[in-house]
Amino acid sequence: MRTKEQLKQAAFAAIDAKKMEIAAFGDSIYREPELGYKEYKTADKIKKLFDELGYPYRDKVARTGVVADLKGKESKYKVAVMAELDAVVVPGHKDACAETGAAHACGHHCMMASLAGVAYALNGTGILEELCGDIVLMAVPAEEGVEIEFRNKLRESGEISFLGGKQEFIKLGIFDDIDFMIMQHIKKKDGTVEAEVASNCNGFVSKLVRYIGKEAHAGAAPHEGINALNAAILGLSAIHAQRETFRSEDYIRIHPIITKGGTLVNVVPDDVRIETYVRGANAAAILDASAKVDRALKSGGDAVGAATKITDIPGYMPFNFSEELIDVVYENLCALYGKEHVDRMGPGFGGGSTDAGDVSQLIPTVHMYIAGASGNLHTEEFAVADKESAYVTAAKALVASAIDLLYDKGETGESVKKHFKAQLTKERYLKEWGKL
Ligand SMILES: [Zn+2]
Ligand SMILES: [Zn+2]
Repeated sequence: MRTKEQLKQAAFAAIDAKKMEIAAFGDSIYREPELGYKEYKTADKIKKLFDELGYPYRDKVARTGVVADLKGKESKYKVAVMAELDAVVVPGHKDACAETGAAHACGHHCMMASLAGVAYALNGTGILEELCGDIVLMAVPAEEGVEIEFRNKLRESGEISFLGGKQEFIKLGIFDDIDFMIMQHIKKKDGTVEAEVASNCNGFVSKLVRYIGKEAHAGAAPHEGINALNAAILGLSAIHAQRETFRSEDYIRIHPIITKGGTLVNVVPDDVRIETYVRGANAAAILDASAKVDRALKSGGDAVGAATKITDIPGYMPFNFSEELIDVVYENLCALYGKEHVDRMGPGFGGGSTDAGDVSQLIPTVHMYIAGASGNLHTEEFAVADKESAYVTAAKALVASAIDLLYDKGETGESVKKHFKAQLTKERYLKEWGKL
């Protein structure tokens, strides 16, 4: 039996031997960017690779997702290694699709390249045969929040229930037997930091609110009207009256705007609209605050006799950290980049949102950031300046972490599982987040 280090070196050598193929794969995906739930060509590319390597897979998972189960010596644990299939809309990007404006300006093609690297690392190297668990390679659709109307139509037709691909994977049960999920995302090089792990993402729910009153002449017959603007003002004041009940550690942020306040000054407003986000650092607190906001908004309508209509659109969930899984990944990043170039950020607050946060509510999940980009994500300037890091070293970080979790009797994986605290069950996730 080889040592853990020998297994990692065998994986790295296999990845290095396929550098050209990995680069060609990543570049090919970059050249044909596709938007969420429409990543057909991108899915075909990963399927073709799995076919070449003789890996069985499930396809058309949540429309375009592809999932390959690679069996270990036994199946004590399962590690999912994930990459996102979709591009983002940046029509002015030099490599954007002329038709859709889609461009790989968030670098998801680098994730796909690293997934290909992991696939090569486990092919013909005998590594899987020495691990106590399975490695599941996942290509997931629709991380970027774009084309909401299109996705809402898919939702109305019953084809999907969630706008995000990982959320949909949860619903479909793809994570039911998965013990750990690891993934990485490209970042811009920040000083000397080449890699970071565990920057926080807050979660959010967005709300569209409509007060429906009754028009009347504001001077001659206001007694015949129902003033929807008064309802909105009372509703907003009632939200402020909830603030003392929010705990500091939950970082609740509610920031409504009135998007329509009336039509004519001489007419009692009968249609007033508000949009707001309810953000927070954990799912339970967001759900609690969301319910209080609904109650407050409704009180404004009730006070004046207006109807209150609230439409919730579930956003992404906050990140629930597994400190032990962060440690595993951190050590591997340090070995690959040098300790002085790796930032172990740990839980903090702020940052963007990702649907990897949703997965982290249920199972130990880690999301690394690996340098290689020049220009900011989601902008016309975005480019991959360092493919060695973004395609190749990223793959090594992923496969080395998977080996750690599944080596020997899986002691490391067992310890990660033991110390992880799920914030929600899948049932509660679907019931409470899904109903929003
Ligand atoms: Zn993005
Ligand atoms: Zn992204």
